[in-house]
Amino acid sequence: QKQITRLPSWLKTPIPDSSSYKKIKNDLRGLNLHTVCEEARCPNISDCWGGSDKSAATATIMLMGDTCTRGCRFCSVKTSKAPPPLDPHEPEHTAEALSRWGLGYVVLTSVDRDDLADGGARHFAETVRKIKQKAPAILVECLTGDYAGDLDMVGHVALSGLDVYAHNVETVEALTPQVRDRRATFRQSLGVLRAAKEAKEGLITKTSIMLGLGETEEQLWDALRELRKVDVDVVTFGQYMRPTKRHMPVHEYVTPDVFELWRQRALDMGFLYCASGPLVRSSYKAGEAFIENVLK
Ligand code: SF4
Ligand code: SF4
Repeated sequence: QKQITRLPSWLKTPIPDSSSYKKIKNDLRGLNLHTVCEEARCPNISDCWGGSDKSAATATIMLMGDTCTRGCRFCSVKTSKAPPPLDPHEPEHTAEALSRWGLGYVVLTSVDRDDLADGGARHFAETVRKIKQKAPAILVECLTGDYAGDLDMVGHVALSGLDVYAHNVETVEALTPQVRDRRATFRQSLGVLRAAKEAKEGLITKTSIMLGLGETEEQLWDALRELRKVDVDVVTFGQYMRPTKRHMPVHEYVTPDVFELWRQRALDMGFLYCASGPLVRSSYKAGEAFIENVLK
């Protein structure tokens, strides 16, 4: 396979200015919160946290540790069959810290925990309930795994009081076996998104697809049609970036024009909104998008 090593110009973004990081460091000092934004040095940090309106600012928090029971070929998270036990105080601590921070929109995500009987669903749901008790104004999006197809657990999280249920299909159906852990399937993920929608009337559901893995246009159309069939409201597209040489190679750097084309196509198909661009991640400016497209 052709190896692409040079980054195209649109991916050579300046490192976010250090004042954004300083502001965040100050905000987070003493809160003991682990944000994906900061730990992964996400290039979108100024966009997500930078606006003057803190009530629209978005951050992503990782729950349930840093070690996953799965090993997807695009992901750099550590893997183990037996990660350390959950911290039973995490739901309370997370809620307490978020209530002091005062941002408008939080994305809660986690590693997959196939070692736990409920996949960690109760812990996730408990965290949402505690946040809604302590800081009811914060909008909460949960980006969960597939709970190995246990739809009762999906329902449990969907009914926890969250505002958006997100689960990423990551890629088109044909590439799923090469891209995601073998325990994940495209159909199982569609089932998760359907179950979340059915659990609570009006719940917004969301998914994300990486481009540049070798998917064809037709495969992408098919994926979007399947997602609309289960009434997914929001889709995001971003460029796959290879974390290390041990991970899947990038097949193609998709141009910004093509990202814009797919954004338009998704809107034409009836998705409520769509973030699409080379650097977009599923949580990209999620607060602003929710406020503009759902609340208004
Ligand atoms: Fe944080 Fe997600 Fe925004 Fe990156 S895209 S800064 S991880 S909320
Ligand atoms: Fe990474 Fe999620 Fe796959 Fe775990 S399940 S390896 S955290 S993408």
